[in-house]
Amino acid sequence: TCFPAEVVPKAPEDALFGLMRAYRADESPDKVDLGIGAYRDDNAKPWVLPVVKKADDVIRNDPELNHEYLPIVGLEPFTSKAAELILGSNSPALTEKRTSTVQTISGTGAVHLGALFLSRFYKVNGANRTVYLPNPTWANHNQILTNVGLQVASYPYFDKDTRGLAYDGMLDAIRSAPERSIILLHPCAHNPTGVDPTEEQWRAIAEVMKEKKHFPFFDCAYQGFASGDLDRDASAVRYFIEQGFELLISQSFSKNLGLYGERAGCLHYIAAPGPSAQEVTTRVSSQLAVLQRSEISNPPIYGAKVAATVLNDPALFAEWRENLQTMSGRIIDMRKALRSKLEELGTPGTWNHITDQIGMFSFTGLNEQQVANLQKEYHIYMTKNGRISMAGLNTRNVDYVAKAVDQVVRET
Ligand code: PLP
Repeated sequence: TCFPAEVVPKAPEDALFGLMRAYRADESPDKVDLGIGAYRDDNAKPWVLPVVKKADDVIRNDPELNHEYLPIVGLEPFTSKAAELILGSNSPALTEKRTSTVQTISGTGAVHLGALFLSRFYKVNGANRTVYLPNPTWANHNQILTNVGLQVASYPYFDKDTRGLAYDGMLDAIRSAPERSIILLHPCAHNPTGVDPTEEQWRAIAEVMKEKKHFPFFDCAYQGFASGDLDRDASAVRYFIEQGFELLISQSFSKNLGLYGERAGCLHYIAAPGPSAQEVTTRVSSQLAVLQRSEISNPPIYGAKVAATVLNDPALFAEWRENLQTMSGRIIDMRKALRSKLEELGTPGTWNHITDQIGMFSFTGLNEQQVANLQKEYHIYMTKNGRISMAGLNTRNVDYVAKAVDQVVRET
């Protein structure tokens, strides 16, 4: 073989997808999947958003429907509205035409394209800058960034004692990073911790980043899914743009439209305001298109059409907001239910973090042994770091999960 084991060792299975496989193979009727970050309804079933069903009807009934290629940078009615969604429709960045949007293979593709662009073109004295990631962060960030040759480092994010933001440590690390470093930020519903900075903390983070001329790279995978309010969840990004940063935003429609497998997302470049902003934007756009062409030629069409249909129709858009409330509301209810059951049982420890945290995930504080016991003895599946996907809980299993957590916490 041309690929001997010392050159191509067998890679370990992706931890999350391995967990999914183990869950599927488990035949217990009690099994509970708290692993994968995909929304489930109260019957533990995937939920096709009603607004997505309507958009799908519109698309299928279009007599002009075809399967032609999209342009390299994607479907314009999607990308333009996606930019408005994250930036706000009256954003000065839009009116001043200093934004460039490329449709990508969802959030993963957007992080990748952004990283690839930075690896090629973001140089200080001829060399790339390190990307600082929150510790912990989405498991895939590290490999996406290192695969394009960028160096990664981390900044403290989660405080194990308070189970909240390691605010001082985060700020110190950002302050100590060499000038013009790349700082990756989750603008809302941080994965995996569910802990977000407050507005005031975001302002301080922005101030330090401005002082140090750092480059913000926002990875936004949960807009509308955190608070249920699309604008509120975009407020950190909008604040940085108000402050005049040049930045990148990765935007995913996997969770907020439930389009997981359709791979709908965008990468947005925003130039800093100023006389050369449009000219910079044109150059950046042209290079993003070159990178896109060599990687995927052009992006997939179906998810983009669904999103475009929803984003361009005021009635469907209003209905989407309701669907978002349904999802975020159910998750908030499950946070309350799990916390109150654990408190009722007198489970050792404090559980307020479950309701303080926001979005798809809760970082429970359960240790690796407790997680293993939950899986072995109770058929409850979660990632080793004690992260649970709140969407895996429902009115039928939340009692069972709380009792199981109570038991393992007492035993281990
Ligand atoms: N970024 C973060 C922080 C995520 O949590 C996820 C999904 O879990 C993604 C990006 C990418 O998701 P997708 O590629 O499905 O849009």
